Amino acid sequence: MSINTTSAYSDFHLQFIAGEWQTGKDDSINTNTNPYNGDTLVEVQQATKDQLNEAYDAASQAQEKWAKQTPATRAAVLYKVVNILDQRQEEIVDWLIKESGSTRIKAMVEFSATRAITLEAATFPNRVHGEIRPSNTPGKENFIYREPIGVVAVISPWNFPLHLTQRSIAPALALGNAVVLKPASDTPVTGGLLLAKVFEEAGLPKGLLNVVVGSGSEIGDAIVEHKAPSLVSFTGSTSVGKHIGELANGGEYIKQVALELGGNSPFVVLKDADIEQAVKAAAFGKFLHQGQICIAINRVIVEDEIYDDFVERFLAHVKTLNVGDPNKQDTAVGPIINEKQVKSLKEKIAKAQDEGAKMILSGEIEGQVVPPHIFTEVTREMDLSRNEVFGPLVGIIRAKDEDDALSIANDSMYGLSSAVFTADMQKGLRFARGIRAGMTHINDISVNDESNTPFGGEKNSGIGRFNGEWVLEEFTRTHWISMQNEPREYPF
Ligand code: NAD
Repeated sequence: MSINTTSAYSDFHLQFIAGEWQTGKDDSINTNTNPYNGDTLVEVQQATKDQLNEAYDAASQAQEKWAKQTPATRAAVLYKVVNILDQRQEEIVDWLIKESGSTRIKAMVEFSATRAITLEAATFPNRVHGEIRPSNTPGKENFIYREPIGVVAVISPWNFPLHLTQRSIAPALALGNAVVLKPASDTPVTGGLLLAKVFEEAGLPKGLLNVVVGSGSEIGDAIVEHKAPSLVSFTGSTSVGKHIGELANGGEYIKQVALELGGNSPFVVLKDADIEQAVKAAAFGKFLHQGQICIAINRVIVEDEIYDDFVERFLAHVKTLNVGDPNKQDTAVGPIINEKQVKSLKEKIAKAQDEGAKMILSGEIEGQVVPPHIFTEVTREMDLSRNEVFGPLVGIIRAKDEDDALSIANDSMYGLSSAVFTADMQKGLRFARGIRAGMTHINDISVNDESNTPFGGEKNSGIGRFNGEWVLEEFTRTHWISMQNEPREYPF
């Protein structure tokens, strides 16, 4: 099918199942709104369980043929996707702004990350390989094949919808798998339907990618419990992730799970740090996308000697940030995704004050736009320190010394990303290695993601790693095949 690339994609009210755009058959409607101005963007008639089954049937059938295609054929589709992303960059960025409330800056960060993982995935068909291992049994050869895992269920969140969906589906498809995807209800377009249009235009065979938009109560559990997927790739909150893990391993069919869950990133400023640079980093790492990032700075921990100086400069810098319309070039802080999240942030502001934190910056909440709030004299026991904030509120904790800073940094049930600022690289490395997390950045923010380095967390932040060889392993299965070349002697 040829599509005129000059015209913008349309028909986002439809589901993408078995390679066809079809109307959802459930009674319910997903009304997709712009979080900044409340405009209705699209109304999607939601999918039923039968439509989910249809998606899984199509995926299972298409996957068998796809796995047999040459690596070059599969890679070509991924390279084509990169080209289309480039051609449609403006259209995609526009959708990220209007559907997920991304500021222009964040939308560009997300677009670049999406492009990078697609390009990385395009190399996977030719990078994946098996092994031959020696055997202690005379006359035996051991072959370790690496095969596609089959059908992958992908469930993605609303905060970086395009990238967090693509970082699962691009590697999955590149490695010979098929996908059934459920995007988050707040972002059905950027979290799925838009990518389906891109893959369709790139010539991906029908049935390999299915996007099913549905309510949690109708298809939420069914997508995980279905017989077809061998792997469930979930990105979202720890509470839902735990539920997914239970479903995936407590039902009739056991399946692998990759869980990328919540975070509580510490950002540590040691007394010898370049304070000015740490201040700018803290502001960007905290307020990018209004703090709605799993690896956003959640706790700023500053050594006592420089605490007051840091706070004064941080406050002055944050006051300069532009808040409001995400479409404006210079807006740093845009809207919160939905009213439920705004309500939860209001509760967090009240709780921080009740618990004795000092609010040194606040502002009027207008619609879904919550301006930056800064709290000082925050302790490790307070709600702001213990839980993921997911909004533009930040608590600054005072640490007695380096050891105390490390102890506070590690005092969390999460272990996703982290950061430390110091002028002494040896000290920085020692400190970084002491942090129990999947990722730590020295003299930079906790918000980093590169397509060739392992992304993922420990503890309640999840299981598994994205990007590079790590995701290549995640989306394939090993099969040990031995060959006995001469008759073996058995004991009886
Ligand atoms: P969420 O857990 O509420 O939802 C995630 C996805 O799960 C959505 O698509 C949602 O519709 C779906 N879902 C909800 N209940 C389900 C069920 N019973 N069965 C199947 N699917 C179900 O998370 P969210 O609010 O969309 O995203 C924010 C959270 O995600 C934060 O906690 C954030 O830290 C986390 N997150 C983690 C990463 C990471 O890489 N570790 C990245 C981004 C976001």
